[in-house]
Amino acid sequence: MSTTPETTQGPDRGADLLERLTRVRTRISAATLAAGRDAEPELIVVTKFFPASDVVLLSSMGVRQVGENRDQEASLKAAETRAQGIALDWNFIGQLQSNKAKSVVRYAATVQSVDRPALVAALDNAMDREIGRRTEQGLPERKPMNVLIQLDLREDPSVPEEGTGFGRGGADPATMLDLAASIASTRHLRLRGLMAVAPLGTDPVPAFAKLMELSGQLRVEYPEAGVVSAGMSQDLEAAVAAGATHLRIGSDVLGPRPGLL
Ligand SMILES: *Cc1c(COP(=O)(O)O)cnc(C)c1O
Repeated sequence: MSTTPETTQGPDRGADLLERLTRVRTRISAATLAAGRDAEPELIVVTKFFPASDVVLLSSMGVRQVGENRDQEASLKAAETRAQGIALDWNFIGQLQSNKAKSVVRYAATVQSVDRPALVAALDNAMDREIGRRTEQGLPERKPMNVLIQLDLREDPSVPEEGTGFGRGGADPATMLDLAASIASTRHLRLRGLMAVAPLGTDPVPAFAKLMELSGQLRVEYPEAGVVSAGMSQDLEAAVAAGATHLRIGSDVLGPRPGLL
């Protein structure tokens, strides 16, 4: 398939998106109320596999944060929407090869999938060059890159996970504080918190409880790293109940993805 998917959804795509988005927003409000929380978590709409035209429609409906998991697709969509004067925060949420860091720093506000020291170094070096490039070319300043540590919440990470359509990945929680220290020692990366995907085929409740506990441990040393990005279409209620600050919702807003990887 091409890297910028074309619209195939017909003329009422806007109405379709608004209806789905409204339903998801209602679920988030209800879950927030049920959890007795004061503030709703932030909604990040995961637009992977869907065209830039959908991102444009979503931004007209008040969506400010989007998520993508493949660099080539994300960078094209970010360029297309920026050319239309649309300001969005792009969250990179997929497994990231170090050699893609150079591209990701051009458009992403946040990389949620930092899972190893080599990637920390690659992102920081790429940021350094990007800051230089923007200065040289008189482009708007590059703000520091927000990063989240992605954690693997499986009970037994040695057991391979079944095909999920997207690599879930994440760092062993035992390495969290070392990774945090390596991020804290960079020039251009800012540690904001944690991200995780509930392990496939298991109850998300204990997984999210474990994530919240790890977040508590992280915040002892890094009080500004309070983001907990958890919860997808299937398990957003469990994530809100656990205390997630950010939700990453794809299919329940965009519809079923047109064929997985
Ligand atoms: C695709 C994806 C999501 C969104 O999943 P849905 O089930 O479509 O809501 C969230 N997080 C990550 C890391 C993803 O790759």
